[in-house]
Amino acid sequence: MKLRRGPDGYHFFDRMSGMNFLLDEAIPAPETWSQSPRQISIALTNQCDLSCPHCYAPKTKAKLDSSQIKLWMTELDQHGCFGVGFGGGEPTLHPDLLEICDYGHLNTNLAITMTTHGHHLTDNLLSNLSGKVNFVRVSMDGVGKTYEAIRNRPFDRLLSILNKLGGYMPYGINFVVNQQTIPDIAEAALIAEDLGASDLLLLPEEAVGKGRQINPTSKARLQDWVAGYSGKLQLSVGARNANDFPTTIPLQQEPPELAFAHIDADGVLKRTSFDNAGYKIDQKGVIAAFSSLCYQQAGAIV
Ligand code: SF4
Repeated sequence: MKLRRGPDGYHFFDRMSGMNFLLDEAIPAPETWSQSPRQISIALTNQCDLSCPHCYAPKTKAKLDSSQIKLWMTELDQHGCFGVGFGGGEPTLHPDLLEICDYGHLNTNLAITMTTHGHHLTDNLLSNLSGKVNFVRVSMDGVGKTYEAIRNRPFDRLLSILNKLGGYMPYGINFVVNQQTIPDIAEAALIAEDLGASDLLLLPEEAVGKGRQINPTSKARLQDWVAGYSGKLQLSVGARNANDFPTTIPLQQEPPELAFAHIDADGVLKRTSFDNAGYKIDQKGVIAAFSSLCYQQAGAIV
């Protein structure tokens, strides 16, 4: 198991099972705390072949170099990061996706995850990623015609991809919630459960990129649905909306700047993908950029 020291104690994590274990009877000295974000997302590329109306990603040609990503993964792993989540744009369009995941699996103890629209998950790609990617998140905003109006891809095709995905690796569903998709939430959860997804990440739409803020009525409907949900999926919600839902915070003392960071497709390290400002990662490496970000934003000890 991988160990991370922090203000909540000694935190152990196993990337294969996803198990977390916190020993909180002793708090390590601050100077020994892990020097990396606990989780990081990396936008491998800004390119995407869909054009969803709520898309948050800048549609530029930016794409990260695989040798750079490997160096950052090594550094993050050595400084106590638990996992890296590849996204974009659409990460399956990065030409070196397999090589990058392979490297992370063989040379680091990072959990490798990926967020994708799913339409390039062929049997060949899935069998090559199997055993190297620990978890996949697939976007499914709405069902049937709602999904097709947003994603411009056949819903049945998505279902057949999800149907086989669970045979290769564990997965969850990302659901952007807005006025158009909220009526489908219950059916989407049933489908996800039937097809073997383990969790449902609820993402109330944000006013970022092409996105528009979810309206209060739709948000209230979502809150009601969450309150009444009794299915098997683990529900989670985007961090910016956590205060509006009955969420659990296992690491009570961990400052947000130590929990998560994002690297965009131009190699700029930010607090989240929604932030404009950040630090370009230079030859000093990703941990040096992370340290600058933490000092600037919170005065945290890093
Ligand atoms: S939301 Fe995702 S799948 Fe849709 S256009 Fe944007 S990057 Fe592509």
